[in-house]
Amino acid sequence: MGKRGLQDEPGREAGGGPRGAGTDSERGRDWASALAWDQAHLWHPYAAAGEGPVWPVVSAEGVRLRLADGRTLIDGMSSWWAVIHGYNHPVLNRAVREQLDRLAHVMFGGLTHGPAIDLAKRLVDLTPTPLERVFLCDSGSVAVEVAIKMAIQYWQARGQPAKHRLLALRGGYHGDTLAAMSVCDPITGMHRLFTGLVPQQIFAPRPTCPFDAPWDPSAIAEFAQLIAAHKDELAAVILEPIVQGAGGMWFYHPQYLREVRALCDAHDVLLIADEIATGFGRTGRLLALDYAGVAPDILCLGKALTGGYMTLAATLTTARIAAGIAHSDAGCLMHGPTFMANPLACAVAVASIDLLMAGDWQDRVRRIADQMTRELEACRGLDGVRDVRVLGAIGVVETEAPCDLHALMARFVDAGVWIRPFGRLIYLMPPYVISPDDLSVLTASVVRVLSDA
Ligand SMILES: *Cc1c(COP(=O)(O)O)cnc(C)c1O
Repeated sequence: MGKRGLQDEPGREAGGGPRGAGTDSERGRDWASALAWDQAHLWHPYAAAGEGPVWPVVSAEGVRLRLADGRTLIDGMSSWWAVIHGYNHPVLNRAVREQLDRLAHVMFGGLTHGPAIDLAKRLVDLTPTPLERVFLCDSGSVAVEVAIKMAIQYWQARGQPAKHRLLALRGGYHGDTLAAMSVCDPITGMHRLFTGLVPQQIFAPRPTCPFDAPWDPSAIAEFAQLIAAHKDELAAVILEPIVQGAGGMWFYHPQYLREVRALCDAHDVLLIADEIATGFGRTGRLLALDYAGVAPDILCLGKALTGGYMTLAATLTTARIAAGIAHSDAGCLMHGPTFMANPLACAVAVASIDLLMAGDWQDRVRRIADQMTRELEACRGLDGVRDVRVLGAIGVVETEAPCDLHALMARFVDAGVWIRPFGRLIYLMPPYVISPDDLSVLTASVVRVLSDA
């Protein structure tokens, strides 16, 4: 197919129009050749070029993805933690359309706009009190880069430039850009491939004490030694509160966070909380930090921020740190993306947050948690299953051996569900709007696929 092939096809102009209009125009696409082109030219996340099957989606509604061949799949992934209200939501669609007719984008340097102000106000309101300065950026990884820069610039301003390293947790995930990568788990993040480019950080063991076990004080011992030993070179600790997501779907004890906060204070090290995955109710609390009642110095939000509509993230910090940065040699925070605070993304984020706060998300997440706990229990006795755990709207089955990703995904698609396992983890994180019947289809598929395996 020639370079222009896809652009000339009908369907490129789809959108606008009434709901579902895109479906009809997508039917005209020659999917066999489009998929061949995809395989030859498009990279997908964490895949070799051309590797593995991909399924074409033409539209989505609620918790259902519609494939090009007409089949529908019940979504168990929320498109990676993001689509909390379901797809094609009338309120979110309206927010985008109304903003589109006013202003799709304008530079944020020297200009501002209502959607950014409205969004920042909401973020300040729903996060712990000392967080009152908001940096809006393009993606979760960038939010983590910004958080790291804030911490380092703060210590420079305080005359302590030696405090420029990070203490992170093994089993963590913080994004794919280089500084964000440097604080991901060094093994699964493949740091050795990027030696010399990725800064060398300090790693504490994965928090061993599970979320619902009695607190075991020895769980913080090694962290306590590391922070004491390195305090003079540490700008900040960075962690995912309560739930380590893409690094292993592990739920740890809230007391661990309180201990970390106290140790950061005692040793004059900042605390960066990465709530990009956990924010906006996924764990059963609005922020996972709320389980511990802990306030960080810097907080990263992303993923569900726009209800999964557009890419947008935020880094919040305190007045003290912001003032420190303002008095540094640079005189400002050294960051400013082209599409900073994109008005479409801010407008849909405002609508998504308002929808969440006006609704009964706590009941919904609790109901999802209860049902997953009941229905995934059947996995516990199965051969090759190591652990089953549920927290909020996150259900995880951990296997003994790594799964065959492509084979499993094909079986899930055949069963009418969208579930993408990784490593030894098969997990469910459905949109909060999922019905009990649809959730039962998801859990039954996991049980069946694991029983057959
Ligand atoms: C997904 C994720 C990121 C990175 O966000 P992107 O939008 O993919 O760049 C960072 N931290 C955590 C905890 C995440 O789950």
